[in-house]
Order: sequence, then C-alpha cells, then structure tokens
Amino acid sequence: MKLEQKTKAAEEAMEVAEASRETEWEKPSFVGDIFLGRYNLDLISPFPEQSAEDKKIGDEFLAKLERFLAENVDADKIDSEGEYPQAILDGLKQLGAFGMKIPKEYGGLGFSAVNYNRAIALIATWCGSTVAWVSAHQSIGVPQPLKLFGTPEQKKKWLPKLAAGAISAFALTEPGVGSDPAKMSTTATPSPDGKGWILNGQKLWCTNGTRAELIVVMAQTPPKIVGGKEKKQITAFLVETSSPGVKVDHRCQFMGLRGIGNALLSFRDVFIPAENIIWGEGLGLKLALITLNTGRLTIPAGCAAGSRRMLQIARDWSNERVQWGLPIGKHEAIASELAWMASHTFAQESIAWLTSGLADAGKVDLRLEAAMAKLFNTEVAWQIVDKLVQIRGGRGYENAQSLEARGEKPWPVERIMRDMRINRIFEGTSEIQHLFIAREAVDPHMKRAGIMLKPDATLGEKLPALTKAGLHYAGWYPTLFVPKGRGNFGRFGKLGKHLSFAESTSRKLARAIFHAMTLYQAKLERKQRTLFRIVDIGTDLFAMSAAITYAQYQAEKGGDTANAHDLADHFCREARIRIERNFETLFHNHDEQSYKVAMSFMKGEFQWAEGMLVEGILPTPENVEEAIRSMT
Ligand SMILES: Cc1cc2nc3c(=O)[nH]c(=O)nc-3n(C[C@H](O)[C@H](O)[C@H](O)COP(=O)(O)OP(=O)(O)OC[C@H]3O[C@@H](n4cnc5c(N)ncnc54)[C@H](O)[C@@H]3O)c2cc1C
Repeated sequence: MKLEQKTKAAEEAMEVAEASRETEWEKPSFVGDIFLGRYNLDLISPFPEQSAEDKKIGDEFLAKLERFLAENVDADKIDSEGEYPQAILDGLKQLGAFGMKIPKEYGGLGFSAVNYNRAIALIATWCGSTVAWVSAHQSIGVPQPLKLFGTPEQKKKWLPKLAAGAISAFALTEPGVGSDPAKMSTTATPSPDGKGWILNGQKLWCTNGTRAELIVVMAQTPPKIVGGKEKKQITAFLVETSSPGVKVDHRCQFMGLRGIGNALLSFRDVFIPAENIIWGEGLGLKLALITLNTGRLTIPAGCAAGSRRMLQIARDWSNERVQWGLPIGKHEAIASELAWMASHTFAQESIAWLTSGLADAGKVDLRLEAAMAKLFNTEVAWQIVDKLVQIRGGRGYENAQSLEARGEKPWPVERIMRDMRINRIFEGTSEIQHLFIAREAVDPHMKRAGIMLKPDATLGEKLPALTKAGLHYAGWYPTLFVPKGRGNFGRFGKLGKHLSFAESTSRKLARAIFHAMTLYQAKLERKQRTLFRIVDIGTDLFAMSAAITYAQYQAEKGGDTANAHDLADHFCREARIRIERNFETLFHNHDEQSYKVAMSFMKGEFQWAEGMLVEGILPTPENVEEAIRSMT
C-alpha cells in the first residue's frame, strides 16, 4: 500500500470509529474529572455498599453455584481434554447461570452488577473456560445488546429463550480486522423480496460460536449519503445459527482456556428477517462498542478473583518451602513480591467492587473507569501470575497432573498462567484501552482547541480557535496550580496523605496534558507512548482512590478486615513510584529514537540480528550445505 493510500485508509478508519464513539456525558465521571485536574472523591466515596437484600439474593445463588462447581467442574480435566462437557452447560442452565443478567420479567435472575460479578468471580476461582461460556453469552452476547437496544418485541421473543440457556455469542472480529473493526468485510445486502437481508462473510474467534443458537453479528450494509458524503454503514443483526448457510468452519484452539467453544464462522447467503436488526441500520459499530463498554466489568472481576486464588497458593508455598534455612517468603526478594501481590490484589478487588457498585447505583458515567478496570486488572493479574510462577520455582512450570502424579499438591499455576494471558487481548487489547482512555482524556481539551490540532486546517481557521481557546486556558490554567483541599482527607487516617497526593497529582496531570497538546499539537495523536504514560498515571490515581475508599469501608466494618489500610497504604506507595517515573519520562525520554530503531527493524535493516551471532555456528544455507557435504 502506498503512503497516501495508507493515510487515507487510516483517516477513514478514524472517521468511522469517531462516528461510533459515545460522545455524550450525561452523568459525572470521576476519572474524566481527574484528567481535568478536578479530584472529586465524593463521586466514589463512601464506597457503594451492597444492600442486605441484594446480598442475600447473591449469597443464596453463590451457595448453589459453589456446590455445583465443586461437584461437577474439574478445570484441569477440561483443560487437558480440551472439551467442555455438555452436562456442565446443562447444569449451569438449570441453575439459571445463563440468565443472571436477564431481567426477571423475561425469565432471568435479574441480578445486580455486584451479584453477577460475584458469581463470575466465584467461577473464575474455579475454571477460566467456564467463565468464558457464561460471560461471552451475557456480558457481550445477545442478551446485553438486546437489553440495551432491542425493541419490546425482540426482547419478548428472545430474552426468555436466552435466559433458559439458548447459548449466544458476539461476532465482531474477522480474519482481516481485529482492533479496528470498522474495515470489516462481512456484508448484509437487502434481499430481493425486500423482506430481509442476505449475510455473507466470515467471523473469527467467536467465543461460544461452536454451540451458540443465537449470535449478534456486525456486518456492513450499503453505504448512505449523509450531508452529501458517502457514509459507511455497519449494522448489528441477530442471527439464528440454525439458518441455512451458517457454518462452523473451524474450532479454534488456544494456549489456555482450552475448554472454550471458539469458532471461525462463515455465513453464506444467510437470510436474516428484517425484524432481526438490532437498534437500527448503521448503528452496529456503536452498538458493539457500547456493548463492550458496558460488559467490560466482568473481566476485571474475574481477574481479581484469579489473583485472590493465587495469593492463597503464594502464601502457603512461601511458608512451606524452606531454602537456605528460611521459608522462601522470608527472603527479602520474595517478601517484596508477596507484598506487591497482596496489595495489588487488594487494588484489583477495590476496583472490581467499586465499579460494580457504582454501576448498580447508576449515578456516574463509568466508561473510563470500566476501561481502566479492564486495563489495570488484566495487566496486574498477569504480573501476579508471573510472580507466582517464579515463587513456585520449577513447580510453577510443572502442570498439575504431573505434580499430582509424583505426590505433590496439584496447584494449577501453569494452567492459571495460560488461562490468564488472553485477558490482556480480548474485549479490547491493553493498547486499545489506553487509546480509548487517552481519546477521552484529551477530548475536553480538543473540543476547545480542536481545529488547532488538525493538520489540514489553514492558519486562517486556526487563529480564531486559538484566541477562543487562549481565553479559556488563560482562566483555567492558573487554577491548576492552586493547592486546594489539602487536609480534607483526615477521616482516612494514614491514607489521607495519599489522597492529598492524588488530588495535587490530578492537577499536575491536567497541566501535563495541556503541555503535551501545545507541544505536539496534531502530532499528539501519534505520540502513543506519551498518551500511554498519561493514561497510566490516571489509572494509578484511580486505583489508589479505589483502594483507599475500599480500605476505609473494610476498616469501618472491623473484624478481620480492620488492617485493610496496610494493604492500601502499600499499594499507594508502589503506585506513587510508578506515577513519579511516568512523569519523569513524559517529556524526557527516547521515544523518537525507539521509533526509529523499530522502523529500521521493520525494513529488515537488522535482519542479521535474527540469526545466531557466533560465526561458524550460524545455520546459514551455506553452513548447512557444507555440513551435509562433510557427512557424505
Ligand atoms: C480466545 C479469544 C476469544 C475471543 N472472543 C471473541 C468474541 O467472542 N467475539 C469477537 O468478536 N472477537 C473475539 N476475539 C477477538 C479479540 O477481541 C481480538 O483478538 C482483539 O480485539 C484484538 O484483535 P486482533 O487479535 O486482530 O489484534 P490486532 O488488532 O491485529 O492487533 C495486534 C496488536 O497490535 C496492537 N494494535 C492494534 N491497533 C493498534 C493501534 N492503533 N495502536 C497501537 N497498537 C495497536 C494490538 O493492541 C495488538 O497488540 C477473541 C479472541 C481470542 C483470542
């Protein structure tokens, strides 16, 4: 592809993504405010407590679910056989586990976000593949978009079936498109009789696709002329897999989650009735993004639960294993890892339950918090599993069956690591979460200074915008230096100082965003490392705030959890070091040099480095020929 074509393709992709972005902010956003230098802790504190009535509903279900898991789900067996028993799916259906998120009026359990995520967390401590079956069905599968955008008729027709266990799936990704689904090639064209649509194309990695009865499929429909310009249309369809032309081309196999039913699906001249469009023509990408945004709290809850399970293993093993005369947990190197794991698991938990509680309360916009929860919890869980493997030494690398066969505890650390890795990739990779958050962080500034940042805007267009933005920033900028609110956090005890830090750092961050904008202007969009550092600072500020409010809540409850402040304090100390480092490298770094090396690398200029460096051992074709000659 030539450079001009590439730029045009990138611009088109951006245009479609922008058109599908949720731009309205009807409710306040704690994280959105942080990026503007406003630290409004009241939005997340006091910690949203689950009501006793709701908790009772959850407790009763969890007791049944736990019994079912204990009696039926052997995660290591599922992993080694690579098949998911239908009997388990049937049992889960009977429990109502496929209808947890579906309202009661449609035959579901109508769970709150907290209860749904408690159930997901419980399953996650048991078996990753089981989480995927249950969660792909209702966190992103058909029930979620139907609940959000379905007509009353669609809900009445489909939700009861889905609650009863008709398995569903979500099909966005294709072989040619992943993070940038706007360029999808699956098409739906109006049927000649005018009664519906004809679907053609392929969808890749559709979780539950091997056994799904209903799938929400995103496809391109004919473009429309809007404002004199042709506008691409992506539309969401409800597809019954029993329809002629729907085929499972291949069941995909993975590093982990070996029990999931993930498929490459093809659609060949599949007829879809007109009434199966969800929300409306051209709204499919927006629907997909909103579905992913709202379903995004499940993975963080699952990751936090996985980390809790790992903590138990780490604690037992660090006490039990003695080397050099000491339990390994007492050697400082391991001790510091244990403290990191415990405090970061606490932060993950805080984020999972804070966001779930806030989702139920419905008073704040959680778009950014949900993306941060996905980003933070998946990244931290991965670091925790890596640390756990290290702490277990050789046993961390050995699988559970092998450990058991030679009489050791079959802790499945090796499987947990394989199962855990995908979380940083699916439902939006960590890079895409960073970009999504960065886009929203910069957006309020863009709105004021937008045209100044556009590469194709003329000076004449830029000047009035510059004056207008200048007037705004002239008033706004000095306020970011005013040390407001210090000492208002006394009720948080020793954690109050971390809140003061978070408050002043949010102002420093807003200033940094403004500096980055003025320094890089239109190029800021391409300065991903700068944007990522900004996002990482914001994410750590959010995580600190969540951990502190959760610790306060736990401490006030008393009992065992009275020392939660110690974990939150340790987490905040670690987070503050990361924050400082990100500020230090925000404008003083070697990003440009790193990019240049990567471009040379892409062109093959370092191809020599891919071979072995010791001359004579190099397996070049000549060496191999010479070796063969000498043997014959
Ligand atoms: C086990 C599994 C289950 C899945 N389940 C589903 C499902 O049920 N439904 C469904 O529709 N999809 C599903 N997916 C697809 C999944 O969501 C995608 O893998 C994911 O969105 C990333 O797309 P990709 O793999 O094509 O990576 P790509 O988009 O090709 O990205 C490759 C790498 O480049 C990075 N990258 C891409 N664009 C940028 C950018 N602009 N800036 C910086 N970095 C960038 C990415 O972060 C990634 O690291 C599943 C995938 C797997 C493996």
